[in-house]
Amino acid sequence: MSHQARYYDATAYILPHLAVLCTKLPLEDKAFLITEIGLAIAAERVWPLKPDTEAFREFQEGLRGLRRETEKLVTNPNIAAVLGNNPTQRERFALSALAILGNRTHAYGTWNMFGNEWEYCIIACLCGWKEEVISFRTDKNYFCIEPVSIAPWDGKSIEDEPVWFQGLLHRIGDEETIRFLPFVYGTWVCPDCGKRAAYWDWLAKFIGYGWCGG
Ligand SMILES: [Zn+2]
Repeated sequence: MSHQARYYDATAYILPHLAVLCTKLPLEDKAFLITEIGLAIAAERVWPLKPDTEAFREFQEGLRGLRRETEKLVTNPNIAAVLGNNPTQRERFALSALAILGNRTHAYGTWNMFGNEWEYCIIACLCGWKEEVISFRTDKNYFCIEPVSIAPWDGKSIEDEPVWFQGLLHRIGDEETIRFLPFVYGTWVCPDCGKRAAYWDWLAKFIGYGWCGG
């Protein structure tokens, strides 16, 4: 735990410098830098920095700079060509963009699911019921999931997270992740108490139980 906390303090202090560096890089290198830093940024939500600390202010300053650069890349119609042909690198860029421009808990959760190919997803209801592992591929009917329908993206606005994230995934050709998005942005019903809640709330609850050391 303290090991990770130190690690993220270091991330916070280096972030403003990376943001400045990012502005000076060619397009491909900008995309590479953003791809590499995304997971560390997402993880801040699991090991949160304390507000009113120097580390928190540095983290926020770095994030502001990286947001400007990331938004330019996400809205670049040629982003797939900028990222190159490696599908894993393309997906990692999309997850990093989610960490920088969107909700960091969503990015961390999606990163985890992407990392295990959507087979081992963990959830918990506020009532205390929890399930260590479900598969988005095979267990979808086990829970009563109400999927959302996600509107098409205009290619410009990054206001609506599922909309631009899905649009970005289209641009980079990640149709598989797109299949699961209506469920991860959808509403789930607890098999024990019947409570309806956003999947993200369940994931956040599970993180609160101490999953991955938080
Ligand atoms: Zn419940």
